[in-house]
Amino acid sequence: MTNDQSLMTTPLPARAAQVLRKLALDEQLKQTIPTDPVLGPLARKVAGRFVAGESLSEAAQRVEDVLARGHRANVEYMGESCRDPHLADTETEVFLEAAKTMPAECSISLDLSHIGLAIDPELALANATRIAEATAGSGREMMISAEGSDRTDAVLALHRTLSARFEHVGITIQARLHRTAGDLKKLLQRPGRIRLVKGAFLEPESIAYTREDPALADAYLSYAKELLDAGHRCSFATHDWNLIRHIDQYLDAQASDSAPWEFETLMGLGPDHLDAMAAKGHPTREYVVFGTEWWLYVCNRLAEDPQRLFQAVVDAAS
Ligand SMILES: Cc1cc2nc3c(=O)[nH]c(=O)nc-3n(C[C@H](O)[C@H](O)[C@H](O)COP(=O)(O)OP(=O)(O)OC[C@H]3O[C@@H](n4cnc5c(N)ncnc54)[C@H](O)[C@@H]3O)c2cc1C
Repeated sequence: MTNDQSLMTTPLPARAAQVLRKLALDEQLKQTIPTDPVLGPLARKVAGRFVAGESLSEAAQRVEDVLARGHRANVEYMGESCRDPHLADTETEVFLEAAKTMPAECSISLDLSHIGLAIDPELALANATRIAEATAGSGREMMISAEGSDRTDAVLALHRTLSARFEHVGITIQARLHRTAGDLKKLLQRPGRIRLVKGAFLEPESIAYTREDPALADAYLSYAKELLDAGHRCSFATHDWNLIRHIDQYLDAQASDSAPWEFETLMGLGPDHLDAMAAKGHPTREYVVFGTEWWLYVCNRLAEDPQRLFQAVVDAAS
């Protein structure tokens, strides 16, 4: 069966999600839509639900709100696949500024390809080291995001180098990638927090579970238990209530503010799950994103739940 035929036999919500994930990776659309005089403002209205704003000061305001609600915060300056070495350096400056100005309870996340990995691993290492030094100096965690599977080896290798020098540099792993079973064993030997996500990228079925496959939830839970049994610093980054509930049950009555685990959700996706876990005494964190490169991020959020497409139409029209 060709790709087109297989798309036609897939249910409509899953087809919409596949199309959105393809659009998310279209670098030309990423440039043209936000600057288009008609589509740009509409797309910005849709993005407003998921993105704090374009500037660091808008993100800082949102971070204050998150802290006031009793959660920890994380901030990410959005961007990926930077192809210009000079730009990779200047984008790094924004992370350095965030490390200087954000409250200490706010960790900093980044895609390594935003700061040079798609150009030269040595450039990415130099820029990541600057951010690691700045975040260590201000006593906060630095978290490396997971990218497409074609970059996983390079991301993990760079994290290994940073881990030899820094204890506060965490990493994100994707439950949907089959390789994660082996990667996790090695990452448990490194000090930084391990953030467990399902994985947002369109990946071939030969290397990843599909989003609909029940085996994905089983894999997520088995990795979560492995992290908890090891007592490793970790983050359960999911909005899937079934998974959150199962992990909470596994933890039973052990919740405490100094626990090595935390539950983490993305801004704009409903604070209910996070509030429920905080009320039980679990550490919780909300992930705030900002910047002008919101196209990939917003497409991925819309692709994840068909209901959000309807919400997007309402947001665009309001
Ligand atoms: C803090 C954080 C950091 C992240 N960092 C990364 C990263 O670095 N790299 C990366 O690849 N990804 C990252 N992600 C995204 C992640 O990989 C997932 O793509 C995203 O979180 C969606 O999966 P989920 O586990 O939240 O649950 P989902 O699968 O989205 O499920 C959540 C809920 O959505 C509803 N839902 C889902 N599908 C449907 C449907 N078809 N119909 C109706 N309802 C539906 C259900 O109510 C379900 O309970 C991150 C996520 C978080 C929270």
